[in-house]
Amino acid sequence: MAVTGRIHSFQSMGAVDGPGLRYVVFFQGCPLRCAFCHNPDTWEMTGGAEYTVEQVLERVLRCRGYLKKGGVTATGGEPLAQGEFVEELFRQLRREGIHTALDTSGAVPLDRAERVLEQTDLVLADLKFTTEEEYRRYTGGSLSHTLEFLELCRKKGIPLWIRHVVIPGLTDTEENIQKLGKLLEPYPNVERVELLPFRTLCLEKYRTLGIPFPLEGTPEMDLNRTRELEKLLSSARK
Ligand code: SF4
Repeated sequence: MAVTGRIHSFQSMGAVDGPGLRYVVFFQGCPLRCAFCHNPDTWEMTGGAEYTVEQVLERVLRCRGYLKKGGVTATGGEPLAQGEFVEELFRQLRREGIHTALDTSGAVPLDRAERVLEQTDLVLADLKFTTEEEYRRYTGGSLSHTLEFLELCRKKGIPLWIRHVVIPGLTDTEENIQKLGKLLEPYPNVERVELLPFRTLCLEKYRTLGIPFPLEGTPEMDLNRTRELEKLLSSARK
């Protein structure tokens, strides 16, 4: 039987989710509830629309001309919540010579992740908080799961791009950024670390969905300060 998955949406020319221009597949469904989530409309497993792997592949191949130096990124939601589908999609993309990137929190059972990683060229891992207490409080998941996932990527030698959202009053201290640098020390496969400034563009989505925004009232993160913290992080990692 054909493998099917639930997809929230597609973006045909993504420029920020991996190297080069990318075809981005937003998977529906996420086990976490991050306080700063920009895509609350991807949370429910029942939303989106059903596709077969072949249907998604067909859409991607229509754009293959510009994917030569880029590729396909699976994001969400949480793509690993539909691991079987992503594994099969990535396998077929690789057969076509297309680069595969997985954007994930890593906060999922490892046996599910392992098979997908066999077909993955690059992992974009969101390391959301640097302490177990904050991770649990603001995402509902566990930092230990993400760290176990990073360890699995290290063992498999898969390059990692790490992302961390800088939130005023929560993750914008030098202490937190140094902690992030420390947490990443054991992973020589980390190629880049991006600090993303907290934004409130998603507020309207929360209002439309009737979901309270947990960080309502938190100001947007200053871009210059974010770049300063990025410099601090890169000098701590040298
Ligand atoms: S993992 Fe991503 S999609 Fe899921 S709640 Fe967190 S930010 Fe939103």
